[in-house]
Amino acid sequence: MTESTQKKPARKPAKKRAPRTLGPEKTEKIFAALAHDRPDPKTELEYSDPFTLLVAVALSAQATDVGVNKATRKLFAIADTPEKMLALGEEGVAEHIKTIGLWRNKAKNVIALSQKILDDFDGKVPRTREELTTLPGVGRKTANVVMNEVFGEPTIAVDTHIFRVSNRTGLAPGKTPDEVEASLERVTPPEWKKGAHHWLILHGRYVCKARTPECWRCVIAEWCKYTPKTPDPASVSALGPKAPKKKK
Ligand code: SF4
Repeated sequence: MTESTQKKPARKPAKKRAPRTLGPEKTEKIFAALAHDRPDPKTELEYSDPFTLLVAVALSAQATDVGVNKATRKLFAIADTPEKMLALGEEGVAEHIKTIGLWRNKAKNVIALSQKILDDFDGKVPRTREELTTLPGVGRKTANVVMNEVFGEPTIAVDTHIFRVSNRTGLAPGKTPDEVEASLERVTPPEWKKGAHHWLILHGRYVCKARTPECWRCVIAEWCKYTPKTPDPASVSALGPKAPKKKK
């Protein structure tokens, strides 16, 4: 056999490595600091029972909690059960939520999920992810929020804030929300799992903001991988305005 016809040894397929996380010690410190900062975290969506929370979460896709609350205050005053929602009808629901993005589709889903809850679940919001995700307009993220908030399950729903904080800090890196969720499931110590969802959302919303993370006042900056950290604007302005460049 000539050299050119000799078979090269087959290469071993490259192993797909999970992205590196911070390790258990730093992860523990991050959650302890976030928990100390907000001892009693809650959703900022207004609701009175599982059904109103389910509707509020379903409406919150691509909308702010403030915007959803504004709409649901009036909506829930007249329709806070599946029966009343059906009596109000799709047009009636749409009238109340027109200020929210994707309102047409959301109105359709609210009516359809109310009907399904009555038909298949005896008028009650189901408790499992499998059942919840059979409801129109309810995906894994909405199901996770409902399970965590009203049924006390240690689920973590990855929204835009959690996705950003998990990647920036190195806590649970991932390219997609599902990857980040799996990573968070893996690294979050059991005692922090129930609150993790809220702590990470609120931290992303108020401190680790999308455009400019406020690192100078961040309680987890010490363990966060993100660089360069945003400096305190007060100390930056104390340095005074930049001297104008000299003309050559
Ligand atoms: S240090 Fe900065 S980037 Fe890191 S979590 Fe805090 S605010 Fe976000």
